[in-house]
Amino acid sequence: MKITDVITHQLSVKVDQPFTSSRGWVYTTRGALVVEVRTDEGITGWGDCYGPTSVCKSIVDTLLKSSVVGKDPFDVEVLWETLYSKVKDYGLSGMTISGISGIDIALWDIIGKATGMPIHKLIGGCFRPKVLAYASGLYFRNVDRLTDEAVEEARGYASQGFRAIKMKIGLGSLKRDIERVAAVRAAIGQDVQLIVDADHCCNVPQAINIGRELEKLGVYWFEEPVSPEDIDGHAEVSRALDIAIAGGENDFTKHGFRRLLERHAMDIIQPDVCAAGGITECRKIAALAQAYATPCMPRARGTAIGLAATLQFLAALPECPPCLVPMPPMLEYEQTFNPFRDELAGQPFTHKQGWVDVPAGSGLGIEVDRTVLERYRIA
Ligand code: MG
Repeated sequence: MKITDVITHQLSVKVDQPFTSSRGWVYTTRGALVVEVRTDEGITGWGDCYGPTSVCKSIVDTLLKSSVVGKDPFDVEVLWETLYSKVKDYGLSGMTISGISGIDIALWDIIGKATGMPIHKLIGGCFRPKVLAYASGLYFRNVDRLTDEAVEEARGYASQGFRAIKMKIGLGSLKRDIERVAAVRAAIGQDVQLIVDADHCCNVPQAINIGRELEKLGVYWFEEPVSPEDIDGHAEVSRALDIAIAGGENDFTKHGFRRLLERHAMDIIQPDVCAAGGITECRKIAALAQAYATPCMPRARGTAIGLAATLQFLAALPECPPCLVPMPPMLEYEQTFNPFRDELAGQPFTHKQGWVDVPAGSGLGIEVDRTVLERYRIA
């Protein structure tokens, strides 16, 4: 089999209600960069790249595509190393690796479709046919009702049956942040796990002070307390607190994660399959994490393609550590406005009491609806 073409689909849509996080960017639109890899046997694979879509499109179209056209998609690891070697002198992390990720996911989709197997069967097998998902949301929308809107949103997820919820903090005041987290905790009770994400808005002493309050509220993990490049800062926060520190959504490849893991900078790592290097590289990141006895809970924020790729990866992820009642790897199930997640596979993914089935069909296990690509296409 030979790859005949790599096509990028750049999508954009206006959001129904703008929202922001501690980063301060107001999300007024959502974008997606979908990668389509075609072959001479009529099999098409789909991938998803995380990050600004125009940049990603340019990287795939002008830099990466020429190295995979004409090649055998089954040589997926050879192609990964070829692409990585090509960008090595200027792109060891960031958008170049997102571009490689999208192509890599599409190649695994092709291999699965060609063999009639779901990707998880090709990368080690099925540890779990369904994955426990946490509802990820609780951004900031209406500055006059930040606590009320968080409580209402969290109650909605709990009433849908979600067993875990992730909320944002970063209001520039420990008091305001903690009041809001405490209100959500009181609203959902102790039986729903609560995760708190700072999107790296704190310095080390701020993170430790907030973390001590989060411990009292029984928060499951404290995500990205400090800036992603501050590995020592993460380690310092991690040592100072009993609560689990998570991070890694802004890190790339096994080399980036090695630096986090060898310094025990965090208790949970969160590679994004659509950013950190695709399925090929995230398997290696997960193996490295296992060697450092650190659970891997992938970050997910993309289209239905990215969600399917994350579910395939999660299905084949061992428990860390294995035990009678393990802490299973969970799916980040983003709940903010995202038609690319809900419409691109025809049927949206659904959950039952917070559990999402791993697609059992071949490849990613989804059919991409081309009419949805046309509906949202900008390039
Ligand atoms: Mg996060």
